[in-house]
Amino acid sequence: MKKNDIVTLSVTGMSAEGNGVGRTENTVVFVPGAAVGDLLSVRIVKVLKNYCFGKIAEILTPSDSRQQPDCPVSSKCGGCAFCHLSYAAECAAKQQRVQDCIQRIAGLPVQVSPIIAATRIQQYRNKAQYPVGTDAQGRLIAGFYALHSHRIVQCPRCRLLPPEFDQIRDAVLAFAVEQGISAYDEAAQTGLLRHIYIRKGFVTGQIMVCLVINGTSLPGADRLAEYLLRVCGDIQTVVLNHNTADTNVILGDRYTVLYGDGVITDRLAGVDVRISPGSFYQVNRDMAERLYQIAAAFACPDGKTVLDLYCGAGTIGLSMAARAKRIIGVETVKSAVKDARANAIRNGIENADFYCDTALHAAQTLGIAPDVVLLDPPRKGAGEQLVSVIAGSFQPERVVYVSCDPATLARDLKLFCQQGYVVQAVQPVDLFPRTAHVETVVLLSRT
Ligand code: SAH
Repeated sequence: MKKNDIVTLSVTGMSAEGNGVGRTENTVVFVPGAAVGDLLSVRIVKVLKNYCFGKIAEILTPSDSRQQPDCPVSSKCGGCAFCHLSYAAECAAKQQRVQDCIQRIAGLPVQVSPIIAATRIQQYRNKAQYPVGTDAQGRLIAGFYALHSHRIVQCPRCRLLPPEFDQIRDAVLAFAVEQGISAYDEAAQTGLLRHIYIRKGFVTGQIMVCLVINGTSLPGADRLAEYLLRVCGDIQTVVLNHNTADTNVILGDRYTVLYGDGVITDRLAGVDVRISPGSFYQVNRDMAERLYQIAAAFACPDGKTVLDLYCGAGTIGLSMAARAKRIIGVETVKSAVKDARANAIRNGIENADFYCDTALHAAQTLGIAPDVVLLDPPRKGAGEQLVSVIAGSFQPERVVYVSCDPATLARDLKLFCQQGYVVQAVQPVDLFPRTAHVETVVLLSRT
């Protein structure tokens, strides 16, 4: 197989990234925008040692699960992988992905429970981080990165976001043009405005606008809040984040509050939550509530000491605090730990303590004996050392593992099972409709 070859491909599966997968001449071909059941004519665009990437040249026979994408930039933007599928087919692909990981990576003969579908597949995201750049004419633009690239794709109306985010984004761009503010150029590390970051509390309606800048000050900063409030009256706070590092990480460590008190509030799983711009907060609030309900049903926290590792602003642990004897949360981001402590106080919760530490270091040094360990790590998962401390030293009755990456989850489940634990339930929950991401919550118990 070589570049520009045209092959006929029958699509039989989906990859982790949401590409269609098929096999021709004994080579696996990944095709973006394909659906299981498609018969395609595919142009090979990239040949690697064990597989190829292809582009659809023609759909010879379309899959029954195809639908017309409702977003005009879906094929260019790296955000949504599944706009061309019916939502039922999307859920089936996610279900299969989790099942495949459990079988192939963890090697476990466990039946994954049917995925909990989202209640809505549009306007569910409460957070946007638009990279800022310039178009071919040098005009300021903001959008989303194309897949595997930092090329900005403009998306005037992202279906996943509340419509007021578009107005705020456009108002920031208009303000920047008025003030002569330049876009940050990653390659040259010049220019000022890096990202427009907007977050909304869906229950309270409060909106935070945070501009990430490569510098210490923003021209016209004293007028920015007034300017934006004319477009959207729900803005509660306006913040600058200072990020002068040559990095892919969006946020720097320092903030300047321009308006409000630098935080917004929301309500999640019975808890009034305060969230700072640097704190993790689930992007799909409604489905996060479902996820937390399942986590609580798995944890059975009544009268127990619960260790909540990777706790963010403390939300999962605090949602169980009334039933538990004690909650101990661990999180590396300082502002998130501050939020978690403030959230305990706001809600009159006195049996929760939060530590700013890595999950592993805290587990090795805190000197506690939790009955239940909850863990909700980032995509890279918990890893061998942490699993060994939990399974070997703590030996809790129950482990509840919340994961946003089925592959690292499966790797860690295998480790737990080698160290005396049994997987009791695997429950995928669709927190990220239209994207290839899927959340899973797992209950493990000690044999
Ligand atoms: N449970 C929370 C947050 C989950 S996201 C919620 O549901 O909202 C994962 C969190 O882990 C993030 O807040 C991140 O800052 C934190 N984190 C990343 N690496 C960590 C580590 N090594 N130890 C502890 N926390 C970590």
